[in-house]
Amino acid sequence: MSPLKFTIQKKLDQTLGRVGLIETPHGAIETPAFVTVGTKATVKGLTPEMLQGTGAQVMLANTYHLYLQPGEEIVKKAGGLHSYSNWHGPMMTDSGGFQVFSLGVALGKNITKFTSSKAQEKLLSEPVVRDPDAPVLKPAQIDANGVMFRSVLDGSVHYFTPEKSIDIQHNLGADIIFAFDECTSPNEPYAYQAQSLDRTHRWAKQSLAYHISKPNSEKQALFGIVQGGRHEDLRRESAQALKDMEVNGKTFDGFGIGGSFAKEDMGDAVRWVNEILPEDKPRHLLGIGEAEDLFEAVGNGCDLFDCVMPTRNGRTGTLLTKYGKLNISNLKYTDDFTKVEDTCACYTCTNYTRSYLAHLFRSKEMLGGTLASIHNLYFTINLVKNMRQAMLEGTFYEFKKNFLAV
Ligand SMILES: [Zn+2]
Repeated sequence: MSPLKFTIQKKLDQTLGRVGLIETPHGAIETPAFVTVGTKATVKGLTPEMLQGTGAQVMLANTYHLYLQPGEEIVKKAGGLHSYSNWHGPMMTDSGGFQVFSLGVALGKNITKFTSSKAQEKLLSEPVVRDPDAPVLKPAQIDANGVMFRSVLDGSVHYFTPEKSIDIQHNLGADIIFAFDECTSPNEPYAYQAQSLDRTHRWAKQSLAYHISKPNSEKQALFGIVQGGRHEDLRRESAQALKDMEVNGKTFDGFGIGGSFAKEDMGDAVRWVNEILPEDKPRHLLGIGEAEDLFEAVGNGCDLFDCVMPTRNGRTGTLLTKYGKLNISNLKYTDDFTKVEDTCACYTCTNYTRSYLAHLFRSKEMLGGTLASIHNLYFTINLVKNMRQAMLEGTFYEFKKNFLAV
C-alpha cells in the first residue's frame, strides 16, 4: 500500500494538465502546488505560522545539508523533521544527489577506475583545499556504486550510495522522499548523458528495492527521478524505465523530473516525459519557480514544483509582482507609501508600504528579508493556486494569456 493517495479531480482539454489532490500522512496537498524550500528544515526567516500564512501546503528539506548538519541521527532522535522543525504539514526531502554534484568539492567527475575504497584512500591522502572563492571544477567523484564528495562545511570526505541516501531520508522522516540520482550538467556530451542515465536507473532500482525492504515504506512515499538532459530520446527512455521499474510487485509512488532544461524547450521536455509517466501518480518538476515556467509545467501535466528563487530574491530585496521584479533598494521607493503590489492580499502588503520595506533593507533590519520572503512566497504559491482555480473553471489558457501579457 502506498502511503500516498492521489486523485485527479479535473483534466485540461487537449493537454496533459490536471487538477488533483495528494493525501499524505501529514495532510493533503491540492495540486498543482508550489512547494516551499526549507533547505535546512527552515524556510529562512519565517516561523511555521508565517509560512502557513503564505498559503504554503508543503515544505521540501535538503538531505545533503541535514546530513552534514545537524546529522540525520539528531533529527531522528528529535522525532523526525516534522516535530524537529515544528512544520506539521506534508514534507519532502530530496535525495542529496543534486547537492553532492553541485556543492561537494572533491575530485574528477570521470568514472573512476578505482574501487570506492581505493578512491577513498587516494582522496584522504590529499590535502583538504577549501577556498570558497575557487571555482568548483570537479564537484564529485563517481564510481559504479556511489559518489564521493567533500563537505562544504569542513572539507571532510563522505560517500553516498542509493542505500545511504534512503537511510538518511528514512531517519529524517519526510512524507515524500526521492531516489538517489546523478544530476548531470546540460553541457555534458550525449555519450556521457546516456552513460549517466544508465547509472541513474540502476541507482533508482537499488533505491526502490532498499526502500521497500524497510518498515518506513509504509509511511514514506518514494519518487523516482527522470533524467536525460535536453535529449528527447533519453528523456523518453528514462520516463519509460522508471514507469516500468518494479521490485517484488512494488513501484514508485510518484516521480520527480530532474536535471537541466533550456528555457525555450522546457515545456516540450516535460511533455515528452509526462506523455509516458503513469497518469495516476504525482509528478514533481524539480527546481523551477518563475511564472512562465510554472505555466508551462502546469499546462504539460506537472503537479508539484519547488524553487529557492522566491525566498532567495526576498532576502536580497527583490520583490516579485505581476508587472515584473522590483528592487526595493531603488531610491524611488524611499517615500513610496503604496503596497509592494496593489492587489496582493499577503501579510506584508496588507500591513506595510514599499517605503517601510526600503527602510528595513537600507538599515539592514532582519524583518526586511522576512517580509519580502512572505510576499514572494505568497505571490508564487497564489499564482499556482490561481492556475488550479482557472483549470477548474475551464479558463486556464485565458488566465495564462492575461497574466503573461502584463
Ligand atoms: Zn504581497
